[in-house]
Amino acid sequence: MAKSYDLLAIGAGSGGLSVAERAAAHGARCAVVEADAEALGGTCVNRGCVPKKVMWFAAEIARTLGDAPAYGFPAAAADCDYAALRAQREAYIRGINGWYRTYLADSDIDLIPGRARFVDAHTVEVGGERYRAAHVAIAAGGSPVVPELPGAELGITSDGFFEMEALPRRAAVVGAGYIAVELAGILNALGSEVTLLLRREQFLRSFDAMLRETLMEEMINAGVNVVPRSQAGSVRRAADGTLDLLCRDGEVLTGFDRIIWAIGRRPNSAGLGLESAGVAVDERGFIPVDAFQNTNVEGVYALGDITGRAALTPVAIAAGRRLADRLFGAMPDRHLPYENIPTVVFSHPPIGTVGLTEEQARATHGDAVKVYQSCFTPMYYAPMKARHQACMKLITVGAREKIVGCHIIGPGADEMLQGFAVAIRMGATKRDFDDTVAIHPTSAEELVTLR
Ligand code: FAD
Ligand code: NDP
Repeated sequence: MAKSYDLLAIGAGSGGLSVAERAAAHGARCAVVEADAEALGGTCVNRGCVPKKVMWFAAEIARTLGDAPAYGFPAAAADCDYAALRAQREAYIRGINGWYRTYLADSDIDLIPGRARFVDAHTVEVGGERYRAAHVAIAAGGSPVVPELPGAELGITSDGFFEMEALPRRAAVVGAGYIAVELAGILNALGSEVTLLLRREQFLRSFDAMLRETLMEEMINAGVNVVPRSQAGSVRRAADGTLDLLCRDGEVLTGFDRIIWAIGRRPNSAGLGLESAGVAVDERGFIPVDAFQNTNVEGVYALGDITGRAALTPVAIAAGRRLADRLFGAMPDRHLPYENIPTVVFSHPPIGTVGLTEEQARATHGDAVKVYQSCFTPMYYAPMKARHQACMKLITVGAREKIVGCHIIGPGADEMLQGFAVAIRMGATKRDFDDTVAIHPTSAEELVTLR
């Protein structure tokens, strides 16, 4: 007889772990199915946020070492012992994997190792065993896209980036989203020669123009070779073992040790047997859900990256927790609104952004929009020749000047945004910002003194 649960989560990533954890806390009998049971935590822990942030910290250290002489410290060797960095990073991740394993056991959540496949809407098969659940939450995440080009397999994706055993001397990054700018920035700061190939003029197209223009300038000044309006056509291995990137316009970029595809992610929905459960997918394979994470089939939910909405760890976690509160915590209206989700791009310098871009605000609210903006050189750079920029923008609407967008780029933007996001979620106006006493001397104070 099939083992039975109140809730079965497919995927032990940010979404699956959070829905099971909260459901178990409400007293539900839960299980999580994970295809890669040695690597609990999913993309974020193993191939995403966590290893990326370790690499970002390393890159920031490399940049700071370069600044050190301006503060009277002798020039330090900025060469990174990549093997040591990688070992520390992997050890940290193994610790998190282990922590999750213990946590699941302590919380009485069954971990079912293996690949889940629906038999029907409430029955899932894993390794030949069947499991039934009143509620099934699909949180199987996504995987990086490799383009269908001759020689594309010679390149790697972000997954391969974290498997690299040495820093490439020369790397090409193809793509224009979060991952492309983050990996290009990290490699550049650690000493690789980096080419960033954009198929259009800009990267981070959905971000406020101030952010992407400032970052573009900073990346070019930092030495990243940005090649706009150029599409990869094929990849070939040259006689010396390096890789050539042949662009569709005939240009040939040569001599790369690594080519990294960072052109988006696809949902892990094929192979789940969704058709057996009657769960609908869209044309790209994402699972559409309503505001309550319901799929088209009663008792089957989807959350996280597989839904194709705001593919961020805290979003998957919040969606999972709220779903569990709704199903098992007697909170029938509990759900995650997808507006005003703060997000950070771990570029150099980092970007923090929440709410509408200026373009979106003007399209929606027209003349009711008033924008406050400031660009300045942070004090940190005062003793040095380098003139790096920080920029901040507040977008307000109406006579009360309600803040509908806040965009920050510059050192510290990553840590600055969270508190401002709380204020904006609470409906803060420009006056609330102005009435808040500044903290001096910081970059953040600029946001409460904008004129
Ligand atoms: P995942 O974390 O991908 O988990 C899905 C799990 O399901 C996986 O463990 C997979 O093995 C398992 N699975 C798949 N199919 C099956 C099956 N059939 N049966 C059983 N198990 C299955 N987000 C941020 O907020 N901040 C960041 O800084 C950030 N950086 C990132 C950097 C990179 C390079 C990448 C790739 C992503 C980054 N993200 C970041 C995004 C973040 O990692 C994802 O949004 C988050 O992991 C999504 O969680 P999830 O639960 O939907 O899916
Ligand atoms: P994104 O969807 O963010 O960006 C991919 C971009 O690559 C597209 O927007 C497109 O930009 C460009 N592109 C698509 N196809 C091609 C192609 N064939 N050739 C060249 N360029 C192409 O995907 P990512 O893989 O960067 O990241 C996936 C998601 O993971 C992110 O959206 C984000 O939600 C999450 N993430 C979050 C991070 C964070 O929170 N800091 C960090 C990393 C990932 P265009 O159309 O402009 O050319």
